[in-house]
Amino acid sequence: MLIVMKLDASKQQIERVKEKIIKLGFQPHEIPGAQRVAIGITGNKGKVDAEQFLLLEGVSDAIPVSKPYKLVSREVKSENTIVKIGSHEIGSKELTLIAGPCSVESREQVFTTANAIHEMGVVFFRGGAYKPRSSPYAFQGLKEDGLELLKEVREKTGMKIVTEAKDTATLSLVADVADIIQIGARNMQNYSLLEAVGELRKPVLLKRGLSATIEELLMCAEYILHRGNYDVILCERGIRTFETASRNTLDLNAIPIIKKLSHLPVFVDPSHGIGIWEGVLPMSFAAIAAGADGLIIEVHHEPSAALSDGYQSLKPKRLLELIEKLKVLAPVVNRSMSLS
Ligand code: PEP
Ligand code: MN
Repeated sequence: MLIVMKLDASKQQIERVKEKIIKLGFQPHEIPGAQRVAIGITGNKGKVDAEQFLLLEGVSDAIPVSKPYKLVSREVKSENTIVKIGSHEIGSKELTLIAGPCSVESREQVFTTANAIHEMGVVFFRGGAYKPRSSPYAFQGLKEDGLELLKEVREKTGMKIVTEAKDTATLSLVADVADIIQIGARNMQNYSLLEAVGELRKPVLLKRGLSATIEELLMCAEYILHRGNYDVILCERGIRTFETASRNTLDLNAIPIIKKLSHLPVFVDPSHGIGIWEGVLPMSFAAIAAGADGLIIEVHHEPSAALSDGYQSLKPKRLLELIEKLKVLAPVVNRSMSLS
């Protein structure tokens, strides 16, 4: 249920509604809006009686929420969520670009790529230190040493760091370094991990599972918001279909559908989506044209030598080409590029 407060509701009246919700054994979630405050109720097993809230001062309406996910739903919050990181506003009119290697491999690799990307004005640098690999024999990441290198990238370039948390055991180490914590496709339904990042107050990039429906993705985001972390960015990264010519099938349908169902920002990862570097530029343009708020792109200074995902990685000069073309495309869809 969503309790909508009157335009002139006082702080005290809002507090009284929250106290009432807690007294009933449920959880209140204050959702500030441009016009008025709303308070979402979660934790109820059955229907909540609307009348007891309508009788409270300052309450304008009590609306049942029809979707199984509540806090991520547009029914509860009609305005787009904007995730603020420094002066950057993810989910606003600005398009955000996250770029960097699949994995942090070495000091030379990470700084060659980071310096090139930084020069192009990219603000968010990606790189996995803990890598969830399909094969136990594949490179598993530099782990803590990788995090140290990412920390250095931030110190030396000022770029913000996006890196994956693979499990709850190493989450706090990752959270110390990351400006955005990535939850990978394989971990989308790792509920303990979702609950743990829900306890943090740090933005989370939640990638869609390999065979997950849009509703399942939204339910997983709900786990994070339910614990009080409202800074969640959803990421379409391709799903598994019968098609084998591409690594995955990038589900561009998901962008307008999620935008309709949820207020959270939506990113697209065309690198994993198609899995072929030549396809990354066209799929990036398609994603932005379809309404994505940002892109996460894999870049490597020497893709043929990459320890993971080289075939889908762009060389820096291709990333520059992508940025130049996105600058032309952005105004066509009423957006601008967020670069430093
Ligand atoms: C990655 O970003 O390198 C990655 C492992 O992505 P995904 O979880 O989408 O497969
Ligand atoms: Mn990768």
